[in-house]
Amino acid sequence: AKQQGKAGFVRYVEGLGEPVLAHMQLGGELRRALDNDEFRVVYQPIMRLDDNQLVGVEALVRWHHPARGVVGPGEFIPAAERTGLIVPLGRFVLRETCRQAAAWLAEFGPESLREAGLNVSARQLHDPDFVAEVAGALADSGLPCERLVLEVTESAVLRGQQVSRALHELDRMGIRLALDDFGTGESSLSLLRAFPAAIVKLDKSFVDGIEIDDGLPAAADARQAVARAVIQLARALGLDTVAEGIESPEQVTALRELGYTVGQGYHLAEPMTADGVSRLLARRAVS
Ligand code: C2E
Ligand code: CA
Ligand code: CA
Ligand code: CA
Repeated sequence: AKQQGKAGFVRYVEGLGEPVLAHMQLGGELRRALDNDEFRVVYQPIMRLDDNQLVGVEALVRWHHPARGVVGPGEFIPAAERTGLIVPLGRFVLRETCRQAAAWLAEFGPESLREAGLNVSARQLHDPDFVAEVAGALADSGLPCERLVLEVTESAVLRGQQVSRALHELDRMGIRLALDDFGTGESSLSLLRAFPAAIVKLDKSFVDGIEIDDGLPAAADARQAVARAVIQLARALGLDTVAEGIESPEQVTALRELGYTVGQGYHLAEPMTADGVSRLLARRAVS
């Protein structure tokens, strides 16, 4: 097996060149980083659009690299998925988020935070231990299951029996599942029939430009058509919605006109440390 690995290594490096080598080094670096506790979780508030009240948070992982500084997930999640390191990394994010959310609820009360969400990769859903790990993280933290949201993408959901079984089991446990980046996949609509989603997150690409007044009546406006279709569908199916990537007050207005009540984006709040969220919750507690 070792020899085969060695041969494969040489072949791939010769065939594809430096990016693959860099990629393999990244895999080793990620392992080291996990052992060295270099990963941190930041939280982006999810806000009510009418009064800017925080309703939830989404956990987002960051890598505090000793030489390169803070590295975003776009630069290492793909490698973590390919090497399988997403499983221990995802376990860290899960446990940390549950622990932190339970601490916020204990400090600021049950009304302070409706839910805490985190991203789950297809690779994690394939792991036969995943459901038990979620149950363990909830039990150890004391976070009630209905406060946890697991965000999955359409492509992750479309991975067959094992994933489907895991998702239904999580749903039966009372955990809420969110379809992330909704509308970007190829089969968003049919997926909703088979998948026990509680929340759909309207992808940023449909929020971009939604505020532009092109002179057309709203019903004839292609920029708004998907956002409108998604909210109508969500209502018909009894799902909650979150509009993602909101960057301006004009987008808030346009989304509210379409019926969206909850959103996420730099205009509302950027990802922040747990202390940053605590300050938001503390401020609200006194006012
Ligand atoms: P996502 O799940 O769609 O998360 C939202 C991303 O959009 C985050 O990027 C967030 O910082 C960014 N964002 C939020 N509001 C705005 C906005 O108004 N404008 C723009 N341009 N961006 C906004 P981030 O943190 O870089 O994460 C990127 C992706 O990496 C995430 O996309 C998610 O797919 C993945 N990811 C992050 N953390 C984890 C994790 O713990 N596990 C897994 N499996 N994936 C993760
Ligand atoms: Ca997400
Ligand atoms: Ca998203
Ligand atoms: Ca228009």
